[in-house]
Amino acid sequence: MPLDLGLKAPSRQTAKPIMMEDARNMKCAICKHGDTAPGIVTVTLQRDETVVVVKDVPADVCDQCGEYYLDEATTAKVLALGEDAVRHRAEVEVLRFVA
Ligand SMILES: [Zn+2]
Repeated sequence: MPLDLGLKAPSRQTAKPIMMEDARNMKCAICKHGDTAPGIVTVTLQRDETVVVVKDVPADVCDQCGEYYLDEATTAKVLALGEDAVRHRAEVEVLRFVA
């Protein structure tokens, strides 16, 4: 057996009131009942006249209400795609998320 190299989540030492950035395997923050599990979602962003739909985005999805939680890197990429669409004044842009 390999040694335990300390890969367990260390983030429980300090009690924070809300831990939105650590949504993995947590109770859903929206409905308070569901558990989140890894899945694929479609993210829709809207700013002014531009609507951006990003498909195949990896996320943690609530099994009760369907709310999804993106991690930091995924959020940054999705927002970058949105910024790009706004910049070239797309009305509606449908994209596929590429990790
Ligand atoms: Zn939920």
